[in-house]
Amino acid sequence: MMNTIWADTAGVHDDLRSPADLDAWLDAVGIDARIDARIDAGVDRPGARATADELVSARALRDAARRLAAYVTDDSRPAATSGIVSLPDAIVTVNAAAREVPARQLELHAGRLELTSRALASPVTAAIAQVAEGVIELVTGADADRLRACNAPGCVLYFSKTHPRREWCSVACGNRARAARHYAKIRSAHPLQAGHAGSPGSFDGSLAPSGPSRPPKPTLVPG
Ligand SMILES: [Zn+2]
Repeated sequence: MMNTIWADTAGVHDDLRSPADLDAWLDAVGIDARIDARIDAGVDRPGARATADELVSARALRDAARRLAAYVTDDSRPAATSGIVSLPDAIVTVNAAAREVPARQLELHAGRLELTSRALASPVTAAIAQVAEGVIELVTGADADRLRACNAPGCVLYFSKTHPRREWCSVACGNRARAARHYAKIRSAHPLQAGHAGSPGSFDGSLAPSGPSRPPKPTLVPG
């Protein structure tokens, strides 16, 4: 979810601008808020409609997740700064969202004991709660050590370092970072050429039009 903020040559973009954006994201990620296969309540399924308030909650959770990711990864990228500056505020936001996960309940129906769920939250709110649980797991679980900020020029994404040699969120970012390093090396070796139009030294490290650091597809964590 935190990677619904992304960047390209035009600047930083936000994929969660409307309730419809939130619906599309939840559907794409396929979050199923069921706590048990036998319970059908509290499930976000295709067609569920997010409200304006739920969009506000989801955006706050996203910003909180980015603040926590910045803390875990020691991220200092100015363009990636979260809308939530305070770490305690981010923690409060995640906990508030996670409280809406449907709780398992035991009920007696017509003499029969049945498992049910607390049906206070809407399907969308229950799904957002599941994302909040994913955020908590991400920053405290076994994968927390693998979370990284992508330091390729212009990138604002986070990724999981799934391979010891992985340094970037994507192949495009890796290529751009290597190009930037290459031109920086040439610039330091030939300082007189630096700044000439069209010379290697004029590379400004910005995102190549062909390689925006847009997340390839939505994922629950760390995306
Ligand atoms: Zn990147």
